[in-house]
Amino acid sequence: MSHWLPVLVNTPAHAALGPVLTYRSEHALPAGTLVRVPLGQRETLGVVWEAASGEATGEFDPARVRDIAGVLEGIAPLSPAWQQLLSFAAAYYQRSAGEVALAALPPQLRELSPAQMARRLQRKKPDADAAAAAQAPPALTPEQTAAIAQIEAQAGPFLLFGATGSGKTEVYLHGVQQLLAADPDAQALVMVPEINLTPQLEARFKARFVPLYGEQAVVSLHSGMTNPQRLKSWLAAHSGGARIVLGTRMAVFASLPKLRLIVVDEEHDPSYKSSEGARYSARDLAVYRGKLDGAKVILGSATPSLESWHHSRPAAEGGRYLRLHMPSRVGESSRLPLVRRVDMNHQPRRAIFSTPLIAAITERVARGEQCMVFLNRRGYAPVLTCEDCGWKSQCPHCSTFRVFHKIDRTLRCHHCGFTERVPRACPDCGNVDISPFGRGTEQLEEHLAELLVDVRRHGSVTPENPDGEPVRIARIDADSTKLKGQLEEQLDAVHAGDVDVLVGTQMIAKGHDFRRITLVAAVNPDGALFSSDFRAPERLFSLLMQAAGRAGRDAALGAQSEVWLQTFQPEHGLYAALKKHDYPAFAAQQLKEREQANMPPFSAQALVRAEARTQEAAQAFLNAARAFAQADMAAWDGWADTLQQVFLYPAVPMAIQRVANIERAQMLIECSSRATLQQFLSAWQSVLQATRSQPDCKGLIRWAIDVDPQAI
Ligand code: ADP
Ligand code: ZN
Ligand code: ZN
Repeated sequence: MSHWLPVLVNTPAHAALGPVLTYRSEHALPAGTLVRVPLGQRETLGVVWEAASGEATGEFDPARVRDIAGVLEGIAPLSPAWQQLLSFAAAYYQRSAGEVALAALPPQLRELSPAQMARRLQRKKPDADAAAAAQAPPALTPEQTAAIAQIEAQAGPFLLFGATGSGKTEVYLHGVQQLLAADPDAQALVMVPEINLTPQLEARFKARFVPLYGEQAVVSLHSGMTNPQRLKSWLAAHSGGARIVLGTRMAVFASLPKLRLIVVDEEHDPSYKSSEGARYSARDLAVYRGKLDGAKVILGSATPSLESWHHSRPAAEGGRYLRLHMPSRVGESSRLPLVRRVDMNHQPRRAIFSTPLIAAITERVARGEQCMVFLNRRGYAPVLTCEDCGWKSQCPHCSTFRVFHKIDRTLRCHHCGFTERVPRACPDCGNVDISPFGRGTEQLEEHLAELLVDVRRHGSVTPENPDGEPVRIARIDADSTKLKGQLEEQLDAVHAGDVDVLVGTQMIAKGHDFRRITLVAAVNPDGALFSSDFRAPERLFSLLMQAAGRAGRDAALGAQSEVWLQTFQPEHGLYAALKKHDYPAFAAQQLKEREQANMPPFSAQALVRAEARTQEAAQAFLNAARAFAQADMAAWDGWADTLQQVFLYPAVPMAIQRVANIERAQMLIECSSRATLQQFLSAWQSVLQATRSQPDCKGLIRWAIDVDPQAI
């Protein structure tokens, strides 16, 4: 007997072909079963799907239905909760379910032949419990004890608001440990923003749980893994063998049939939001997934996102999350670093480093302590200019300047990658005196070396070596860590004490546990205060708090550690709150502004981005779809009310208007209700598709909707 099976396949986004196709199978197969199906000339991976509303398979002609090619034997069907998560994510982020679901599965499921797959599944599992004795966990602090008691007693979701070094990770470890001990099948998902930067977390989980549950119990899932590694982790999680999955945002889609606890560490981090394909927020999906799977959710941060902070206001005021506070650092490092502001208005013009900062760095290096200096701009200088004729190192393909990299004397576009040797003279007027303008990390490194040239390393001056050794400066940014292993190598050098001063971009401010750093300096943080992106101050505050958290981790040095801010705005409220380590004050002030301006979290936003050959075509497309919404859609039965509530701004060029010769425009959509915005967007999708074929939109290349955009 034949069965008609709805099967989800990866059809391109917005394609006319529905994402759920009908196939024939000799056997009934439950929803969630992984199958191989023919699609056009090729064979592809599909998931047997409940024909959910909105993705109905529609009419099909039984005579044209094709047979499925096979079932992925030995892999249990994906759970109903997983299917619901994927359906929700696709609908919410306005993508096809096929695209989202298939992208969430490990690539090798698509690539391996049935025979190869069978071999993978048969591989002998490593022996469990061949492990060493477990380390005893530390006795909990009173704050940790209180937080854990709440997590046990309440349903959540929880916002664990804990200072850096307050022992949040220990709370996660403890929560996971209790869960696994109480329920022999339970699984936990622990997410971090950048697993490559936090191998320490993996090490801590492995040290705690491998002795208890064996090597297979803890697996990772992140994009830095090879495809075979990913498949292995995925299968371990899907089969229930892995009890703990550690991963980056993609792990939110891992198949975990017995998921009971989800941790989102550093929940404020922007990298939880995907910036391509379905632009999902793994943090937000984690909260949703918790409800579907009946898993507790813990969001942790020292500087929560303003969204989560707002959601964790008292329940009486409408809060939905339970806020748990751990204000104190553990142990003797309990004193938070001293924050100093240097008023750059009183320093020589164009000074990169203020005199007192250099004195402070010198003093610390001489004592054998480490310093960290960061600036959010890599390269030597962001632009090269000719003062005679005004030539600038504009990228010919983008509306940006190419950055001057002195190390290899190149001009590099950080957006399209276009790279050229630095010209000997101005290409326009021949002036040989072209000069860098502004500064990046390379210049910082060079300049510091000059300023510290007379300083000797701690303990390096001996009777045998009266000259001593010069200060060692290392730079960590995207340029210095391009090759595999380079980052680890450089981090090891810092940990080993081979480096005295570490210079870098925000890469170094996040997450690393540099125990001997006692001074952290932000060279030029003011830019974010005047950014057109309303989230820039929030980002800056959390970055500086994070950076401050790097300082003074070592108990013995903790009392003396300092954070230095070089600023032209020393009285700015953001820095004043930072000085007091007062996130709640900062958040209250920001939320007040957001409420007045009706911005998230007090309203919902979506952004439509369009790319085209010309700026006119990109904008014409967006404005035509907008006009249609305002006139025609508003006239549809029952839609007038909805459209009253949805505000569509006119199309504007994106901040970087042209990248690699493609023009980019965007349109912001705002609505006080998330549900209404959702309703509008799903109906408007078809309008966008229809608009595309209008004559004045010729030249449109692509468009995409970004729901809850993080950068505007
Ligand atoms: P956070 O994640 O909040 O930054 P961690 O969990 O990494 O903090 O804890 C900071 C440091 O304190 C770590 O070295 C950790 O091992 C230690 N620590 C955490 N909890 C305790 C405790 N209860 N007793 C002793 N040391 C602890
Ligand atoms: Zn010139
Ligand atoms: Zn470019």
